[in-house]
Amino acid sequence: MPLRAKVASSVSRTAAALSRAAGRGDGSVIGGWIGLKIDPDLLAHLSAGRAIALVSGTNGKTTTTRLTTAAVGVLGRVATNSFGANMPTGHTSALAKAGSTPYAVLEVDEHYLAQVLEATEPHVVALLNLSRDQLDRAKEVAMMAQLWRAALVNHPDVRVVANADDPMVVWAATPPGDPARGIRPPHVTWFSAGQRWHDDSWVCPECGHTIARNGDQWWCSGCPLRRPDPQWAVEDDGVLDPTGAWHKVVLQLPGKVNLGNAATALAVAAEFGVRPVDAVSRLGAVTSIAGRYAQVDRDGRNIRLLLAKNPASWLEAFDMADFAPTLLSINARDPDGLDTSWLFDVDFAPLRGRQVLITGDRAYDLAVRLDVNGVPFQHVRTFGEAVRAVPPGRLEVIANYTAFQDIRAELDRVN
Ligand SMILES: [Zn+2]
Repeated sequence: MPLRAKVASSVSRTAAALSRAAGRGDGSVIGGWIGLKIDPDLLAHLSAGRAIALVSGTNGKTTTTRLTTAAVGVLGRVATNSFGANMPTGHTSALAKAGSTPYAVLEVDEHYLAQVLEATEPHVVALLNLSRDQLDRAKEVAMMAQLWRAALVNHPDVRVVANADDPMVVWAATPPGDPARGIRPPHVTWFSAGQRWHDDSWVCPECGHTIARNGDQWWCSGCPLRRPDPQWAVEDDGVLDPTGAWHKVVLQLPGKVNLGNAATALAVAAEFGVRPVDAVSRLGAVTSIAGRYAQVDRDGRNIRLLLAKNPASWLEAFDMADFAPTLLSINARDPDGLDTSWLFDVDFAPLRGRQVLITGDRAYDLAVRLDVNGVPFQHVRTFGEAVRAVPPGRLEVIANYTAFQDIRAELDRVN
């Protein structure tokens, strides 16, 4: 690395360490910020010589990044931004801290994908899904898809691993290329992870006609855009690879959605030459991720934490949760997005018949939504009150970002 980059990298590591020592979080944002101030090209310098995978999408990127890191670990040491700091400051900090590793797997905020593609020149980019999120500030889904598509045009050599079940992702992953300028369309490997949420992809991003669906299949009623045949797919409790071989996947993470994340991780790792048969057992070693899916025993209750931040992830959480007493907690602080009107995009009917408790800064918004949805509930002021209000046994907790962090702190920052 050039001298300036070496200095920037060293200062970045020191700043992150100081921040950690001062008890101000993991320091990855401040460390990366200072490093990039000293050398604006630091992320590019730190990326040089590494084979990198980027993982982006609205939901599942933290979990998929962790699973992919485990899978690529078959080959050697892998740098990753394991604290979910998924913007360039976090990437810079993660690579500076890791020192020299042959591989890196980086979770990327979907808004920053173009910038991070440019800086890191990855070998692979995984595109998971696109759905509405943080209504007060996030881009419309179609605009996000357009940004991804435009970014990929400039990187025809990157290997794309993309979700065949999401029409917006399929469109974003298949820019036509430009033969006159010698630009090829990117090479895409498709995976199928299933998609429960369809409400951001009824309209074709190419031509504006409606998207028709039948079972797993979807197609545009006005143009050739349709679901590609996936090379990787979830089948029963395992994953089918492109050769047709089936691999049983035993995860410590719940739900079909995590099997889909496992399929994605195996597909990305395969782009580095990792055989699924070698990687699959490593996926089972991944337990909770920054508290997500963590289980804690407290006063005879087995409490499980599920993070859900937007309508698509709430649907997945209902599917993952056992039919057991369920605490819902909603905040609307800055990291959550300030607009809670998305609660009306979620169908809470799957909770009918369960004991439902609500809490959080915006519990009353949730109360109105549940009342309209015909789901009985009980309001509790504290997490402790919720634990006392349910019988011994499983308590499922579904919370959005800061509400989740509050509860995790009550449980002594469970991992
Ligand atoms: Zn169309």
